[in-house]
Amino acid sequence: MPKASETVLEIDLNALANNYRYITSKIKSGTKVLAVVKAFGYGSDSVVIARELIDLGVDYFAVAYANEGETLRNASVATPILVLHPLPFNFEITVNRCLEPSIYSRKMLEEFIAFAEEKKQKNYPIHLKFNTGLNRLGFVENDVDFIVERLSKTESVKVKSAFSHLAASEDLKEKQFTLTQIEGFRRISEELILKLGYKPLLHCANTSGIINFPEAHFDMVRTGIGLYGFGNDKEENKHLKPVGTLKTVISQIHKIEKGESVGYNRGYIAENTTRSATLPIGHADGIPRSYGKGKGWVTINGEKAAILGNVCMDMIMVDVTNIACEEGDEAIVFGPSATADELSAAINSISYELITAVSQRVKRVVLRK
Ligand SMILES: *Cc1c(COP(=O)(O)O)cnc(C)c1O
Repeated sequence: MPKASETVLEIDLNALANNYRYITSKIKSGTKVLAVVKAFGYGSDSVVIARELIDLGVDYFAVAYANEGETLRNASVATPILVLHPLPFNFEITVNRCLEPSIYSRKMLEEFIAFAEEKKQKNYPIHLKFNTGLNRLGFVENDVDFIVERLSKTESVKVKSAFSHLAASEDLKEKQFTLTQIEGFRRISEELILKLGYKPLLHCANTSGIINFPEAHFDMVRTGIGLYGFGNDKEENKHLKPVGTLKTVISQIHKIEKGESVGYNRGYIAENTTRSATLPIGHADGIPRSYGKGKGWVTINGEKAAILGNVCMDMIMVDVTNIACEEGDEAIVFGPSATADELSAAINSISYELITAVSQRVKRVVLRK
């Protein structure tokens, strides 16, 4: 059985390349690819992921916040970076590091223009975000005249793209809703282009939008979860490979007699003699407490070992009563054969939440075969 030495998140760059190629096989040549590398590259390592994607030919990156873009710039990433949620507090970093803000409200447009003018910018690239139904961030259709009017009075900024975000692109029961969003975006962008007098890039598809709605590809697509190996769909997952493998090691094995308990608050009480394995990974590493008491599991020697009792900050104990294993053996939390999709479903969550939760304490190991 494989021996491991500590808790690590392996990042498989071959899997990333496979996923990039699969996703780009879904789009017409000439359609640009924006890779979403927010939240540490969905919990992996944004710099490692970004560098590999540059080699693969990516056109754009997106991050959620300005400091995530700053991390990429500090690593000499020169590709354009869209900041999806550039709070006005961070305009300074945004402009200093040539990060391109998403602008989603009248107030924000005013504030960014004022900032860009003060910094003597000319044609600073901005991205207009339109709300077509997600009701999270974005201008509404009615704002177009205001935007165009305001932009006509300044040379400090220029619209590099207009975009929207789909609310339910993975859910084909909501197909009609998504088509309405896409139509709304098409209508708004046509009006915008007419009134602006030039054509910015248009984009609105995330990973499931790319897969399910070719009519939503426009000039650029934004892919996040697909690059990391999940397609929000069993069939699609067959073509994608999880990039991250979270693995750890058995620190100690205990024999628990009937009636004895395991862990804090005596979260597990043995009904029969039980063999438990203690692993150096806990809620501070990204295993939420909600996986405790048998909901979650790890894979040891190909077998599922359920979490016994409560998840501790730095450890979990798992049931290895029927698994041949010893101290030093490897335990997989998630990876290509024990997927984050399946594990997260155990607590009614999604792969996105589990993979982005891997904390910065966990060592990242890059694999390239
Ligand atoms: C996170 C995000 C994406 C990526 O979505 P996936 O489902 O991971 O492909 C795309 N666009 C916006 C605006 C986002 O916030």
